[in-house]
Amino acid sequence: MAWQTVRMNESTPNVPPVTEGTRLDPWLNSYAARAHRMRASEIRALFAVASRPEVVSLAGGMPYIGGLPLGDIGEMMRRIVVERGEVALQYGSGQGDEYLREQITQVMALESIVAHPDDVVVTTGSQQGLDIVTNIFIDPGDVIVAEAPSYVGALGVFRAREADVVHVPMDADGLIPSALEETLVSLKAAGRRVKFLYTVPNYHNPAGVTLSAERRPQIVEICHRHGVLILEDNPYGLLGFDREPLPALRSLSPEGVIYLGSFSKTFAPGYRVGWAVAPHAVREKLILASEAAILSPSNMSQMAISAYLDHFDWQGQIKAFREQYRERRDAMIGALQEYIPSATWNVPDGGFYVWVKLPEGLDSKSMLPRAVTARVAYVAGTAFFMDGSGAGHMRLSYCYPTPDRIREGVKRLATVVDAELETVRIFGAAASASQTAVDFPAPDLA
Ligand code: PMP
Repeated sequence: MAWQTVRMNESTPNVPPVTEGTRLDPWLNSYAARAHRMRASEIRALFAVASRPEVVSLAGGMPYIGGLPLGDIGEMMRRIVVERGEVALQYGSGQGDEYLREQITQVMALESIVAHPDDVVVTTGSQQGLDIVTNIFIDPGDVIVAEAPSYVGALGVFRAREADVVHVPMDADGLIPSALEETLVSLKAAGRRVKFLYTVPNYHNPAGVTLSAERRPQIVEICHRHGVLILEDNPYGLLGFDREPLPALRSLSPEGVIYLGSFSKTFAPGYRVGWAVAPHAVREKLILASEAAILSPSNMSQMAISAYLDHFDWQGQIKAFREQYRERRDAMIGALQEYIPSATWNVPDGGFYVWVKLPEGLDSKSMLPRAVTARVAYVAGTAFFMDGSGAGHMRLSYCYPTPDRIREGVKRLATVVDAELETVRIFGAAASASQTAVDFPAPDLA
């Protein structure tokens, strides 16, 4: 073994030399440089506390699984194992099951995408899609252009693969075409190599906005002209409250777009099934990268998704989800108006998230421990920017708690915001940022 060749600590022969690392991690100096760039997501760090029953979590993007017919799904799973267990519990194809890929093309047709099952690669959630795309395109120092703010899980992948992320602003209609153009021009002038644009066009995580129909061809045209590939990440496209899905960017430019889809939000994330659709040559590389990482996606999960699509009213279920999420969105917006009128926010018309701008002088990151102490959790805006900016914002998600819990959570948040505002009023913004969690009374979360 490798560590037998290095100088051993004489008294404890099986322990690597402490001088090479630290007491907490003796292998600290052995990691690849990229491992040092990895960080626990701000969401993950919070999960342990935020999932305690006394805390109202407005933090995670967990879908409302309680809305599914779990008994019937359980019976479906039982039948898959009993009747087709020899396939379900076996290894499968690296590209994914052909029948499921055919069904996926029908799901995508709802967003005007025309694709052949051969174009589809089944992934372990769209998160793995993000990873394999980044794996095959990014060398250290390559540039990825992404919205400001951007999905924290994508930023984690980009950071791990040592990309430089350059953010482009959005407004209520999504990514701003003129800002994208300007950014690409200045990156080119600086001699930077832009590998792709990462975008979440529908019900954005975390900003809640949707790229308007008018802007879609403009974004595609700008990227095409600059020779920049588009990575379209679309887990929420079918979860609009008031309108039919807009055409996917992929439908406008099959050769210029890699599309990522997921069953996590329209069915259930526990199966970990998503997919990628890519131009032909890219698809082959994606399959190789996926096989190297996972050999094949889970047959069991794929067969469950297939059976669900065949035997359940999945479109009716999506409609029911949309109604449930709309009710929760209304509860959150109503509570914000009532309890935190000093903040501003967008009103999302689909998806899971409200992006809240705090009153001047408040810092969402430093305020978070005090919020958790007050038994409410959110994600600080800093999680969604590569450079850690965004402290003036927070992401609130309304997907998981009931409307009553959402109202209670926002009410608790209001007490924290009010206390912060008072501190800022008396001592200035710096005082608010330097407070610690201990300053806030916490009878049951000591
Ligand atoms: N992309 C976005 C924008 C997301 O919000 C999420 C989940 N929160 C993912 C990708 C990953 O989803 P999954 O791997 O479950 O498909």
